[in-house]
Amino acid sequence: MAKLTGLQIQKLLPKTNCKECGSNTCLAFAMKLAAQKAELSECPYASDEAKQILGAASEPPVRKIQIGTAKPFMLGDETVLYRHEKTFVNQTALAINLNDGDDASANTKTLQAIKDYKLERVGEILTIDSVCITCTSGKAEKFAALAKEAVEITGLPLIINSTDVSLLTAAANAVKGTRSLLASATPETADALVKLAQANEMVLAVTAPDLNALTELTAKIKESGFNDLVLEFQTHSLSEQVQTNSIARRAALKGNFKPLGYPTLAKVAPTGLLEDLVSAITEICKYGGICVLPSFDASQLVTLMSLRQNIYTDPQKPIQVEPKLYEIGEPTKDSPVFVTTNFSLTYFIVSGEIENSGLNAWLVIPECEGMSVLTAWAAGKFSGAAIAKFCKEIKLNEAVNTRKIVIPGYVAQISGELEESMPGWKVVVGPQEASDMESWVKANF
Ligand code: SF4
Repeated sequence: MAKLTGLQIQKLLPKTNCKECGSNTCLAFAMKLAAQKAELSECPYASDEAKQILGAASEPPVRKIQIGTAKPFMLGDETVLYRHEKTFVNQTALAINLNDGDDASANTKTLQAIKDYKLERVGEILTIDSVCITCTSGKAEKFAALAKEAVEITGLPLIINSTDVSLLTAAANAVKGTRSLLASATPETADALVKLAQANEMVLAVTAPDLNALTELTAKIKESGFNDLVLEFQTHSLSEQVQTNSIARRAALKGNFKPLGYPTLAKVAPTGLLEDLVSAITEICKYGGICVLPSFDASQLVTLMSLRQNIYTDPQKPIQVEPKLYEIGEPTKDSPVFVTTNFSLTYFIVSGEIENSGLNAWLVIPECEGMSVLTAWAAGKFSGAAIAKFCKEIKLNEAVNTRKIVIPGYVAQISGELEESMPGWKVVVGPQEASDMESWVKANF
């Protein structure tokens, strides 16, 4: 159902203007509903018809789905086609595939590696979201045992992967209560797998040979009362996969086409490290919900996680660190003092370069709304007066004996203003690029 306007919503309200919802008129309340600034439940007199129609209209175009319970992650709930329009909400989940037919001790080692994997980047800890257990042995006990072991070791939700209903049943029962994803139901197995997903409180991936058959299948399952679905497209090339992901997302967002309004699952077929990486990158860039990598490879993961972090950062809210006085190494009261902005990348690069130089130092990070040095300076957030005011707030004069402060070379022009605003301090202009920090430090300290 297309999004309703305020006037269309008003026609569904009692039109008594009783004000109990907090708005002066039903029209004013309808306008708030249209702008998603109010909930229909705030009107005690809303009819069942209004609840039904408005409930359907307010469903997100891509259904929000939670996978997992202990270490859950969210999928879907997206509202824009392009990141710069607003922001992407729930990042592509990364999963690692394990085959139950492979060597058991190698699988255990991989599970341990998945559990231990952590990438720290610009202040965030990035980890693997899920494990895909694929049945290649054809044996229910083996499949179920590996699924159980995967949950026990990693604590992560699973993608339980088989085309056979009885095998899926065995593995699902072994990890009941984990809200894992069963992959994948076909038009032939859908009835049985919907029941299995319901019985185990799991999410169900659905697949079909083409988009028409897939939309028929999701519509039929939704009509039966089950709606925790994820789409798996059957495509035969990278370009077809990108195209299909885009068609589905566009249909859901622009056409409000509910049968394709679900997150997606893509299993990358093993073809080579670089080819697999390109496939996964494509999923992250173009609407992938869950991307299953064929094996654990730390070099692939660092690339994918960095890219994913960049794409799923809100473009209107730069990632930033807390404004305060930071210690680099083990500074004493006589250690040198540097200053830069609170844009995370700037902070981590500058602090890393000072640390690499072996210098113990203080780093003043004033509030700059997460802007980089030149942007913050142009916006008046990184002026001499603003830095001096912040240094006063954090009582820098008391924290250190030093009376020299190093500013980034790009804002050499603020040195006079800063010296005037910080009586007794000498301002030293540092390097323009953080990459020159190490040699600059060695030459100056
Ligand atoms: S509570 Fe309902 S009936 Fe009363 S003014 Fe608000 S929308 Fe209208």
